[in-house]
Amino acid sequence: MGQLNDVGEADGWRCWLCDEPVDPDMSPNDPRGASVDTRITKAKAKKKKQGKNSVPPERLAHKSCNTGKGGNDPVVPWPEHLIVVDPAPIIAATERLERKGGREAMARCPSQDDADSVAAWLIDRLSRLSPELKLRAEIASTGGQYLVSLHTA
Ligand SMILES: [Zn+2]
Repeated sequence: MGQLNDVGEADGWRCWLCDEPVDPDMSPNDPRGASVDTRITKAKAKKKKQGKNSVPPERLAHKSCNTGKGGNDPVVPWPEHLIVVDPAPIIAATERLERKGGREAMARCPSQDDADSVAAWLIDRLSRLSPELKLRAEIASTGGQYLVSLHTA
């Protein structure tokens, strides 16, 4: 339990995948109970074989959200209230930014307002998903749409 508490504290008792609160007092057998997700994605597993980053970061997840044991790549969902076209896979894009920095196109939006909402959501969401990554969002008008991209600082 000590490890679970440490990971829970580090993630503020919020699930790293669905971004909803996790109740530390709920039974670990409950699907909404707390569990430790060992974050090994394909990119990280490859790195691990090369001997770098040998300890993958552990994250707090609901038992039902935890992908670590299933061997599937974790997925961070885009919220339904955001109007986006061609949304990028959030975890894959975040990992590329962590690895090499630079810029990732995240989504296109039909209006500037939508793009502003998407940019604000992404910055907030990634501040918890990858706290060490310092990002800014940019919105570019292209062909009647608004492209939201993230840039490392
Ligand atoms: Zn969850």
